[in-house]
This record gives sequence, C-alpha cells and structure tokens, in this order.
Amino acid sequence: MSFGSPYFTLPDFTYHKPRTLRDALELLEKYGDDAKILAGGVGLIAFMKERLVSPSHVIDVKEIPELKRLEYRKGEGLIIGATITFSELESHQVVREKYRALYQAVKLASDSIIRNRATLVGNVCEAIPWVDGPPPLIAYGAEVEIRSLDRVRRVPVADFIKGPVEIDLEPREIVTSIHVPEVPDEAKSGFVKFNIGSEFALVNLAAYLSLNGKKKDVRLVYGAISPKPVRALEAEKILLAEGDMRTLITSAALKASEELEVISDVLASEDFRRHLIKVLTVKLLTELIGGG
Ligand SMILES: Cc1cc2nc3c(=O)[nH]c(=O)nc-3n(C[C@H](O)[C@H](O)[C@H](O)COP(=O)(O)OP(=O)(O)OC[C@H]3O[C@@H](n4cnc5c(N)ncnc54)[C@H](O)[C@@H]3O)c2cc1C
Repeated sequence: MSFGSPYFTLPDFTYHKPRTLRDALELLEKYGDDAKILAGGVGLIAFMKERLVSPSHVIDVKEIPELKRLEYRKGEGLIIGATITFSELESHQVVREKYRALYQAVKLASDSIIRNRATLVGNVCEAIPWVDGPPPLIAYGAEVEIRSLDRVRRVPVADFIKGPVEIDLEPREIVTSIHVPEVPDEAKSGFVKFNIGSEFALVNLAAYLSLNGKKKDVRLVYGAISPKPVRALEAEKILLAEGDMRTLITSAALKASEELEVISDVLASEDFRRHLIKVLTVKLLTELIGGG
C-alpha cells in the first residue's frame, strides 16, 4: 500500500448499509463482482483512493448485529465476528490471558486510531503479506466461516489466504466470523515483529507451544517473508525433541532461517530477513519457554 497517491478523492460508488446479514447477502448476490464489503474501511478506502479497486457498490456491514459477536466458550474456543475491531480484541480478557499471540499482534498494530476501526476479519480478507492478524490465527489453527445465501462453509485461515491480496472467497460470499479453537491451559503462545523504520512488519512471527500435555504440539508461523504466512515445519520438529531447551531454541531458529523461502523487496533484502527470522525466533521462544 503506498501513501503517495496522486488521488485524494474516492471514485463514485453507491453506498449500501444493510441491517441484516440476509440483506447484505442479497446485495452481494445482486451486484457480485461490482460490490465490495466495507468493515472498518481502513484498507478499502485507501485502496479505492489509490484506484487499486473501484467497486460500483460498497456494502457497509458495521451495523449488522449478527457480525458483532465476540464470544469465548470453554472447551470450544473463541468466535470473532466480522465487525470486531483490533481494539475490542485488545480489551477482551480471554484474548489477553489465553490467546496471547493474538493479543500481542493486535496490540502492536499501528496506533489506536487504526486499531479502533480496523477489524480482524478485514485484516485477514486483505491478505497483504505483512499484516499481523494471520500468523497468530494460523498458529492456533483458526478457521473463517463463510456464508452466501445458500451455504455456509468453514476454511482454515492457512488455506483461505491463497497469496498476496488473494483469498478463497466468491463475490457472492461474506466472511461472518473467525473461529479460534480452545487452547489447553498449559499451552503458551506469543507474537513478535520487527518493523523499525517501517510502518509494516519486515518479519513477524507467531508461536504456539503445547509441550506438557499428552500430545506435544509446536507451531511457528512467519509473516511478511513470503507471499503468504508460512510454518517452519522442520524447526517445529526440533522443538519437539528432548534436550537442553536453550540448545533446541538456537537450533530451531537456525533451521527456520534456512528452511523457508524468503523474498527480497524494497523493505528488506532476503539476507536481512533471514537474520531477523533467527533473532526473532530466539527472542520469542526464550520468552515463552526460557533457556533452562
Ligand atoms: C496507516 C496504516 C497502518 C497499518 N498498520 C498495520 C499494522 O501495524 N498491522 C496490521 O496488521 N495491519 C496494519 N494496517 C492494515 C489494517 O490493519 C487493515 O487495513 C485492516 O485490518 C483492515 O480491516 P478493515 O476492517 O478496515 O477492512 P476494510 O478496509 O473494511 O476491508 C478490507 C478488505 O477486506 C474485505 N472485507 C472486509 N470485511 C469482509 C468480510 N466480512 N467478508 C469479506 N470481505 C471483507 C473488504 O471488501 C476489503 O477488500 C495498517 C493500515 C494503515 C492504513
């Protein structure tokens, strides 16, 4: 996203403000490719000003009660409705205490003006490689719920994001919520990013670790290094082994920095990103599981 746009105005469009999910779905059915959903508008309005998208119909879903859910059910997990903002997640007690990677990701995003408007679902639907919402969601194994007039389906966030600005969504569909599974009490998770000198992350990382339960589980998800967030599967295996934790963390960080495909772009070279992967991995894992 560039802020050097020659345009300061929005292109012409018809604004719709449905009050029910059904009305929104009927509008999508009618206008299809010519319509765009507006949640917080942080991304969409900027994209429209840049003329990257010029929908003839904008469907504002903020006042739809069915999309305003933010619920935790013990044993089932967290349901995050499509209009829930970063700020609402940041101030939710269960998110703060139990879903630490998600909490840290929303808390570290931009400033309070952006966080008060930006929704997590909008963040995922943008599918911009450097955004902070997807890595923690993928680390928890979260799914998006998608509706059209005639069906409901659920897709893992990891599959929903297909590439830069490319998602598994038809024009007649809307994402209604994100479902984040329950996490065991002993599990730990966290998020870290490096964005010094940039509004956007050069590398971000979400980790989920469940090492003391019956079934050990480790997930390391890196964003901003490739067209979509990726797991470092070989590094995860290292952390599942027995041994001195400090040594395992160092080996896992090295492996992660070697095993992943990493891009070079105007923000950072491939080499610098590989260095950041190593440093951020050691930093986050040491915070989560210590060196002993
Ligand atoms: C200055 C600035 C700083 C930023 N810093 C950060 C940062 O540090 N970290 C970070 O992660 N992000 C950052 N962002 C990105 C921002 O978080 C996202 O743009 C925002 O989360 C998008 O959410 P939204 O509700 O505003 O979506 P919108 O702008 O309303 O929509 C974005 C896209 O998603 C689609 N969409 C939205 N909701 C739905 C739905 N329910 N179903 C289907 N499609 C939908 C829209 O049609 C549109 O294409 C920044 C943005 C700006 C402008």
